[in-house]
Amino acid sequence: MVARHDQTTDPVLLDGLLQARRGTAFFARKLNELTDAELDGESLLPGWTRRHVVAHVGYNARAVARLVEWAATGVETPMYPSVDVRNHEIEFGATLSPIALRNLFEHSAVHLNVEWRDLPAANWHHKVKTVQGRTVPAEETVWMRTREVWVHAVDLDNGATFVDIPAPVLERLLKDIIGAWRTRGTDKDLLVEVTGQPSTMTYGDTAATAPTVVSGSLPAITQWATGRGTHGTTATRDGEAVTPSPLAPNWI
Ligand code: ZN
Repeated sequence: MVARHDQTTDPVLLDGLLQARRGTAFFARKLNELTDAELDGESLLPGWTRRHVVAHVGYNARAVARLVEWAATGVETPMYPSVDVRNHEIEFGATLSPIALRNLFEHSAVHLNVEWRDLPAANWHHKVKTVQGRTVPAEETVWMRTREVWVHAVDLDNGATFVDIPAPVLERLLKDIIGAWRTRGTDKDLLVEVTGQPSTMTYGDTAATAPTVVSGSLPAITQWATGRGTHGTTATRDGEAVTPSPLAPNWI
């Protein structure tokens, strides 16, 4: 029996699935705008061509689909056997012919979508384990994929920017990153201000007495926080401008 619509009726989850599907369509559009020859060009990620980005996004869909299959069957299937296997897979994928690389992206995305669509409502709460070893409900796979497709569409470096990413995706991404800094204590003396909202939002080391304050719009600050440059941000320390802004602490 194949369902033609999502089995879950949870509105939050359905909204999340919509963002993941929109992000996948957005990545597909940017990929389709690239000629085969342009796939050889550099991405925004150091050491990675666009081929690496496409291969990574394709294999990521397969890895996320393995978690959804785990939630469906109860049979433990990790994202990747090891980090080494994951990295080798990307290196190999980057050598595929353009048509094979495009097929990898498309087929893996369709497969993941089918796994999501057919996952019974109750199984979305089943626990799976991410590559970082976190135990999460299967629902989390939707967010894991959402941030990959949106951010890596920008990494293709053919016109997409963080302004193209929906605000709810940016907000959640920024909160994830700032939460990771907080856990590791790497946000010490760093305040992050998101301007241009109804009111300015402040994150980071709010207890610091003389913090470095990095400000910018939600897209600019999120781009900076993911380690993709300081464009669109300004910074001050003790009332003095710091130019350019300091690089963000590592995220991953
Ligand atoms: Zn990635």
